[in-house]
This record gives sequence, structure tokens and C-alpha cells, in this order.
Amino acid sequence: MTVNIDDLLAKVPTGLLIGGQWQESSDGSTFDVENPATGEVLLTLASATSDDARAALDAACEVQDEWARTAPRERAELLRRGFDLVQLRKEEFATLMTLEMGKPLAEARGEVAYGAEYLRWFSEEAVRDYGRTFPAPEGTLQMLTRRKPVGPCLLITPWNFPLAMATRKIAPAIAAGCTMVLKPAKLTPLTSQYFAQTMLDAGLPAGVLNVVSGSSASAISEPIMSDRRLRKISFTGSTAVGKSLLKAAADNVLRTSMELGGNAPFLVFDDADIDQAVEGAMGAKMRNIGEACTAANRFIVHESVAEEFSTKFARRIASLTLGNGLDDGVTCGPLIDESARQSVTELVDDAVSQGARTLTGGTPGQGAGYFYTPTVLVDVPRDARVAQEEIFGPVAPVITFREEKEALEIANDTEYGLASYVYTESVDRLWRLSDALEFGLMGANVGVISNAAAPFGGVKQSGMGREGGAEGLAEYTTLQYIGMRNPYAAG
Ligand code: NAD
Repeated sequence: MTVNIDDLLAKVPTGLLIGGQWQESSDGSTFDVENPATGEVLLTLASATSDDARAALDAACEVQDEWARTAPRERAELLRRGFDLVQLRKEEFATLMTLEMGKPLAEARGEVAYGAEYLRWFSEEAVRDYGRTFPAPEGTLQMLTRRKPVGPCLLITPWNFPLAMATRKIAPAIAAGCTMVLKPAKLTPLTSQYFAQTMLDAGLPAGVLNVVSGSSASAISEPIMSDRRLRKISFTGSTAVGKSLLKAAADNVLRTSMELGGNAPFLVFDDADIDQAVEGAMGAKMRNIGEACTAANRFIVHESVAEEFSTKFARRIASLTLGNGLDDGVTCGPLIDESARQSVTELVDDAVSQGARTLTGGTPGQGAGYFYTPTVLVDVPRDARVAQEEIFGPVAPVITFREEKEALEIANDTEYGLASYVYTESVDRLWRLSDALEFGLMGANVGVISNAAAPFGGVKQSGMGREGGAEGLAEYTTLQYIGMRNPYAAG
């Protein structure tokens, strides 16, 4: 089905969603949303002020108690209707994401399936929020635990997965009975705007989900976070911003979930199936144009297979077609903006100046958009910036090793700890490495592991808390313990 772009953009609400009404910003200010493949403005949205942010929190607080009392089954069915509606609108969501974020349409369709899955998964989890009952060891009490919604939440999302990063927070918050204010990334708010309308169409009551897009993130987050009625912040984005929000969260001792940056190692041992490793590397590196927190950032390859792996990998990378993600046959889109392209260019130039060789790519792309050619670098020094920093682009540095111990040292030599990938035919080695790798996620002979049923999250400076899985629901609840007198106990 081909979507008419003008008709689609006309369906995207351009206002702020507060208490169930789309409205203008209180001072009339606006901001533009651009297509990174062409530089053209797609839509102009209302830009939330601090007063709007407060009004959104007011709306969330007003309905929190009533929403918490709704039956879990009611919340489950609402999420399921949301899932069905996203399915019906999947071509529209996919086109919108390609337009505002740049990923190829086939990948955007994949994100619709992945992002919608959080609605289905949490519709199923909503009615399975179990507590425990157990006797006190002395027999004096019957002890119960139950889970209650944590209360009004602030959700802040990044630009790289415009649908999935929003549903991964909104769906469990709805399932748990929390109300919320969503602040989408200013570079890609259109998907969130249309998704919020979709949830209203599915029957979500006014005030449960409020959306405040805007050009100034802190003007929105600060008044909300300093308000003592807020109970939780869930943030996905860079480690630097995450740290500043953690500091702000301390003032009101907010519950926090932090999904931050990554620097994933991709380990290939001499006993690995190299063709499988190359296949996995394509997914781990090139999914989302390399703009993923889970993106393989360092290919750490045994010296005896490094040449075969790098040559085959470079051949696959060189066969990608760079262009506007809406065009047929395009398999790699533009970076999100000029500063992203500049930062990728600097990382590659720095590595080359330190002796790295370019097997393919290594130059900015042509055209009006923010293109960078998919790149494989070999002979990369361990301490080159490209191996130390989050690349967030289609660049694959290959580093070699001799011993397993050395590979592990290189892998763990980062402040990040989100995703890791290991390719080996040895089950013993997989166990050993799962113990030793300081990462919240490990792909064992597989390059893409994101799944709504999985507890996704990092260690070290990649964050805290988990999204998805049964653990993802617990993030939006508080545990209450009730001790009941045992009438038969002595005394
Ligand atoms: P970012 O930190 O610049 O922005 C993320 C969000 O925070 C945006 O909505 C932005 O407007 C907002 N923000 C920025 N400054 C703020 C402030 N001072 N106060 C409040 N909000 C503020 O990150 P980004 O560039 O949008 O996303 C890329 C980063 O996100 C990468 O580091 C990537 O690894 C990370 N990420 C992590 C995960 C994960 O699950 N761990 C998933 C996707 C992206």
C-alpha cells in the first residue's frame, strides 16, 4: 500500500496533547520538523513552554487515582485495541518514521512490528501482576506483597526509534495504571504525535497520556521534575543527559529508569562460523543506519580470521545502497542531522590519522541529506576515538586479538555496558564470556536481540532499570508489603 504523504501529514496532530485536547502552545511558539534525507520541513508543531509542561502534569495528576482504579482487564483490552490500530495504520507509521528519521522503509516497517509488540506484550502482562503470600518465620504474621502503580510519570524519548522507544514506556505505564507526560525528541516527534492520537482513537481516557513536544527540553523537564507530585522519570537517551536528569531526580527522590548510551563489542573467535558472524555483524552494525544504542561499536576479531571476516563484511557493506529511505532498493538512509554526520566524519578521520585503513566507505555521501557512506576500518588502534566513543553511524572498526583474555579486556574497557555480541561454536566459551562480560545484554551467535518479551537494559554508565519483559512492568509499580496478624499465633 502506498501512502500519500500529504494526506498522512495532514493526519498528524500538530498541537500539544493536554487533558485529552490538542492545543496550541501557551505563548504561540512553534518548531519545525525536518526530513534528514532532503533537509525539507515536514511539519511545524506547537512548542511547549514551562507553563504547558505544568498543565500537562496537572492533567496527569488529576486522573491518576481514577486511572489506577480501572480494572487490569480494561487496561489490557485498551492496549490490545491500540495494538490492532497500529497494525491497521502500519504503513502510515512506517512512512512517517522514514520521513522524519531517515531509516529505509523496510526497516521502518520492522520497527512498527517491534514497537507495536510492546502494546500486545503489556496487554498480556497487565492482568498478571502477581504478588506473594507467605508466613512470617515466627508464625505471628501472614505476609502479603502487592504491586501498586507508581503514579504520574515523565517519559523522555530519543529520536532513533520514534515508535518503539515510546511504546516501550507508554505500554507498561498504561498496564500498571500510571498516568504520564511524554516528551518526544524534537527531531522526530511526529510518530509520537500520531501514536498518541491512535491511543485516543483506541479509547484511552483523557489525561492518561499527555504529550508535550518542544524545542527546549529543559523548559519542559525542569518544571515537571521539580514538582513533588511526579513519581517517576523514565529516560532513554545519551549518558550525559541521563546523568543530569539523575541529579535532578535526586531532589524529589524520584524512581528512575535510565536507558543510556552504549559501546557494544562484537567478538568473533577463531572457531566461529564466519559467514554467520558476517550476517550477524550486518544486523548488529547496520540496523537503523548504525544509530542504535545496541549497535556493534567495536568488532574484536581473532587475528587468524580477521582478514576473512573483514573482507567478507566489507563486501556486504559496500553492496548497501545509500539514499532516501522512501526510494525502492535503498538499504541505508541518511544520518539524523549535520552534527551527527560531522561527528562520524571526525571519528573516521581520527582513526585514519592513527593508521587505520578504510576497506570501504570513509567519506560523506552526496546530495542534500546528511549521508555518510557505510564504512569498514581495519588496523584500528584500541585507543582511537572510534573505539572509545559511541559512533552512532554506519562505521565498523575492526580490532584484532590473540587470546580470549585479551578480547575480554578490550571488550570491557569502556564505561558503557549495554549490548555485547559473541560468535563462537564453543558453548563453554559462551558461558565463560556471559560471566565475564560487563554488559546487560549478550547476543550469542546472533546480531539482533531486541524483543518486547526481553528485559532490556544496561549496567555501568549505560543505565539502570529494565524495559520490556515482566521486569518492564515492575518499573512502573511500587511494592507494598502488608503484615496481617495471625489470630491463631500464641500471644
Ligand atoms: P539525547 O540525550 O540528546 O536526547 C534524548 C532525549 O532527551 C530527547 O528527547 C531530548 O530532547 C531530551 N533532552 C536533551 N537534553 C535534555 C535536558 N537537559 N533535559 C531533559 N531532556 C533532555 O539523546 P539522543 O541524541 O536523542 O539519542 C541518542 C542517544 O540515546 C544515544 O546515546 C543512544 O545510545 C541512546 N539510546 C539508548 C537506548 C537504550 O535503550 N539504552 C535506546 C535508544 C537510544
